[in-house]
Amino acid sequence: MSGSAYETTNKYLQDGFDTLGLDPKTEHMLKTPAREVRVELVIRMDDDSVGNFIGYRVQHDNARGPFKGGLRYASSVNRNEVQSLASLMTWKTALIGVPYGGAKGGIQVDPQELSTGETERLTRCFVETTHEFIGPTTDIPAPDMNTDGQVMAWLFDEYSNFHGFEPAVVTGKPVDVHGSVGREAATGRGCMFALREVLNHEGKSIEGTEIAIQGFGNVGSWAARLLHEKGAKITAVSDITGGYHDPTGLDIPSVWEHVAAEGTLERFDDAPSITNEELMTLDCDVLMPAAIGGVLTEENADDVQADYVLEAANGPTTYAANQILENRGITCIPDIFANAGGVTVSYFEWAQNIQHFSWTESEINEQLEERFVDAHAALRDTMTEYDVSMRTAAFVNAIDQVCHATEMRGLQ
Ligand code: NAD
Repeated sequence: MSGSAYETTNKYLQDGFDTLGLDPKTEHMLKTPAREVRVELVIRMDDDSVGNFIGYRVQHDNARGPFKGGLRYASSVNRNEVQSLASLMTWKTALIGVPYGGAKGGIQVDPQELSTGETERLTRCFVETTHEFIGPTTDIPAPDMNTDGQVMAWLFDEYSNFHGFEPAVVTGKPVDVHGSVGREAATGRGCMFALREVLNHEGKSIEGTEIAIQGFGNVGSWAARLLHEKGAKITAVSDITGGYHDPTGLDIPSVWEHVAAEGTLERFDDAPSITNEELMTLDCDVLMPAAIGGVLTEENADDVQADYVLEAANGPTTYAANQILENRGITCIPDIFANAGGVTVSYFEWAQNIQHFSWTESEINEQLEERFVDAHAALRDTMTEYDVSMRTAAFVNAIDQVCHATEMRGLQ
């Protein structure tokens, strides 16, 4: 499929392979997922009808540790998208230095159409059909689009029904159910650290920086809040219902209040409304896609007015759009770096679960910050050494780690 998510990821990966001069057999091995599980999920709906859904778990690579990656509920979920997201996880975990491989899961469903009871039964059915393939030392799911701490709690509970008490089977659980403080905010906080490091390196700061954010779910809302607290001017936000723009800066605490009360941004009356498409081409310093993939394309990349694209979402920029942005001197802070905060604190949660010991929020946040500072410094070294973009440097550093682990472990 031309321009598919998986093809895009593989093209970015290929740029990394070419920079390192890998041989074709190694490239093939590093591209190919280790295992793909597709399951039919049949549940009883509230009206007594039969609900029939398809779920996927793709395990891409585990040379550096157990497979690790989110579980997404969306109508757009398909095998190709999950393959792409699983591969991105392999490179993300390597780049940020957590001892995992990469995986991803998804169920093709519109979660808005499910009741809470149906969502719970669907989640439990997914565990029933995949529990042999996941586990604390095998493959550890986490939240992603339209899945949250509640879904992770059901996943933990259902897995424990089969295998006994095992909180480390999944991360992103609520704090009261063996989750970690700091996990909910972690991806947004990581985005803030990534942007801060990039700007500081160029003699700039977050304070006064104008930022437009697409997506106001877990990642977008926390990033908005933390960046706002650091003095950034969040000039636009959006979600699936549409967006709002105020060039003087939105009052982010009141946006949060609105979403807490209403569930979405719809009917936020404090600022003029804009479409999601308009948000992408607003005049701002930083454009932050924090929702779905493939939103920056050949069609709109020429019109992007930001100096930086901070990829909070996974795979928001097509390969062709990336080339246009690069040629125009716009810096893409790549997803495998920008949104690695979630998996980093997932690792801290997993480590706490295994030790049955809790860390404080300041310990978590300090350790998270340290990972971003180190990963950014390593990226800059690679950018200089090979004269490549930040995205290619990110893939080069990650491929290097995975290749090394694969070599050291050896082949059969
Ligand atoms: P979420 O479900 O909490 O929020 C998604 C947001 O995107 C919502 O505000 C939703 O309304 C909006 N949205 C959905 N479809 C849209 C559309 N067509 N146009 C505009 N907005 C739309 O999901 P999340 O966890 O915040 O994930 C967002 C992105 O970040 C995804 O790409 C995900 O893979 C990535 N990500 C998430 C995490 C994490 O820890 N949750 C970690 C790394 C990367």
